[in-house]
Amino acid sequence: MDFKPVRQPEIKYTKLFINNEFVDSVSGKTFPTLNPATGEKICDVQEADKADVDKAVAAAKKAFELGSPYRTMDASARGRLLGKVADLLERDVNYIASLETLDNGKAFALNGSIGDTFFCANVFRYYAGWSDKIQGKTIPVDGSFFAFTRHEPVGVCGQIIPWNYPLLMATWKIAPAIAAGNVVVMKTAEQTPLSALYLASLIKEAGFPPGVVNILSGYGPTAGAALSNHPDVNKVAFTGSTEIGKIVMAAASKDVKRVTLELGGKSPLVVFDDVDVDSVVAQAQEACMTNMGQCCCAGTRTFVHENIYDEFVTKSRELALKRKTGDPFESTTINGPQIDDEQMNKILDLIESGKKEGAKCEAGGERHGDKGYFIKPTVFSDVQDNMRIAKEEIFGPVQQIFKFKTLEEVLERANDTSYGLAAAVFTTDINKALLFSQGIKAGSCWVNCYLAISPQGPFGGFKMSGLGRELGEYGLQNYIEVKNVSIDTTFRRF
Ligand code: NAD
Repeated sequence: MDFKPVRQPEIKYTKLFINNEFVDSVSGKTFPTLNPATGEKICDVQEADKADVDKAVAAAKKAFELGSPYRTMDASARGRLLGKVADLLERDVNYIASLETLDNGKAFALNGSIGDTFFCANVFRYYAGWSDKIQGKTIPVDGSFFAFTRHEPVGVCGQIIPWNYPLLMATWKIAPAIAAGNVVVMKTAEQTPLSALYLASLIKEAGFPPGVVNILSGYGPTAGAALSNHPDVNKVAFTGSTEIGKIVMAAASKDVKRVTLELGGKSPLVVFDDVDVDSVVAQAQEACMTNMGQCCCAGTRTFVHENIYDEFVTKSRELALKRKTGDPFESTTINGPQIDDEQMNKILDLIESGKKEGAKCEAGGERHGDKGYFIKPTVFSDVQDNMRIAKEEIFGPVQQIFKFKTLEEVLERANDTSYGLAAAVFTTDINKALLFSQGIKAGSCWVNCYLAISPQGPFGGFKMSGLGRELGEYGLQNYIEVKNVSIDTTFRRF
């Protein structure tokens, strides 16, 4: 298929999506969303606050009442509606990808917004299939009882998402929640409200009853906090920084809400000396710089065996210098801008710290141009484990290359972090690959590949990278309550 971006896609939805209607905020307040490639305003959107969260939660709670159209709908019918959303995403892929590129800055091309949108369709379709396959067990309990479990929805799910993959994060959270029969109030990231609002329109078009999915644009300390503190929210799902994840978890713990968290990372990518260097140099750089490094599982710590270290660094430098940065709508662009000036400045500050602490800046190391929030693809060599760039999540196109000698040593160093989201090992030695995958403390371990994420496989973090899993069958577990029903089969009279 041939995809042609619409550089100025019509902005169709800017209001809050509550009860299947696009409505103004209670306060009447709005906030601007910016184009990160230029820093210019795209449009104003309605700003949700506590009062709007209350409205949306009430609508969701009503949609979830026993006997409601949604609760009496066949599970297979719910699955068909999810499948319809997948079809609609594919129908509008060109428009949606254009909107995403405009609001987020990611490249439009197949490995950017277009790829994200197709992945979203695949996730909706995958969970569509699950809707009528979520079932309990019969259990041979002691005594004269017939016992069975029901796998029931948790109820009102508050979902808070970040700006790095706006449509994808909305999809990863909405699709499994609905497959399991829950209702949703989602707060999108203030930087990127637009694609999720369009998704809301598709959810309505697909035929979901009012109140099943509600989508609010707004800020974290106001709308986000109201959602994670709301007494009628039964479960909170959050993706974002570890710092805010802890705040959300503390808020949710007050009334023992179910909580899942998908947080930050500082993922290691380990390269042994028995690989095809050219191929792995390219994969390692993509692992780090995909989506301009704004990826929670970015492979930011590249550990390279000492025998190939110098060659690897030279080739990484050459590749970074060639990585095309600029207008994300151009078909040849790989790196667009960072999301905003705050992120850009944070990344530039970390780059400066790397230079000051003695790492060697091989490529990039500065802003690209003076308009928008672009950063040159940056490669550091001679990185030591105690440097800030080795420890902190940079969330930018900044690759750190470390040198190692042995498997034991590199495993210990790879695990020496509070994070544990993902890891990779490149080697043709199956024993090394297996030992690494066994020893690494991370929720995903990729062997001779990176970012092998699919709708069917679980994704999530060890340690401070999160709690619970998204995607796959595992991703449903967080949206299900297990009820044990026991029936006395002796027919005693009461
Ligand atoms: P963040 O954690 O502040 O924001 C994520 C979401 O949480 C947004 O929707 C935000 O509005 C909301 N939020 C903020 N404060 C809240 C609160 N008190 N209660 C409830 N919700 C709240 O992330 P950020 O500021 O956009 O980015 C900061 C850093 O987080 C980045 O530099 C990066 O390291 C990390 N990050 C990680 C991911 C990821 O996928 N793991 C995504 C985005 C950012």
